Amino acid sequence: MQQTASKGGISSVRAITLEAQGKDATAGEAVILELDEAARGKRARKAAGICVAIAVGSLAIPLVHFVAPWAMLIVATVVYRKIMAQGAELERASGPCPACGHGIEVPRQALEWPIEWNCDGCRKRLVLQPAAEAAEGAAP
Ligand SMILES: [Zn+2]
Repeated sequence: MQQTASKGGISSVRAITLEAQGKDATAGEAVILELDEAARGKRARKAAGICVAIAVGSLAIPLVHFVAPWAMLIVATVVYRKIMAQGAELERASGPCPACGHGIEVPRQALEWPIEWNCDGCRKRLVLQPAAEAAEGAAP
């Protein structure tokens, strides 16, 4: 596994498989960014800050200000905790579509295996998962 340290964490490349119903799985790769404590804290504070800003902003709106500020403060807490609990994120994933061969490019997003993605070429629903886990799943 090749690893590169970058701002906010360590990126690692790992093998994945791309699966589509009724087709043979193809191999691809994913770049995963393991977030360090400082990077998580920074992102969490930023997201929570946006929620608080919306809460403050909604104080000026009649009627909405009875509910929205409190709701947004709850959302801010939830968002903060969620981001702090998130240890890694998907930087990108790529590979050929099992159905049509079109190159799949999954952009940056929260990392939750398996990743579901629709092929741009044939609109089939693809399931991307780590190669090792896929192999285990296929074993009898
Ligand atoms: Zn396709």
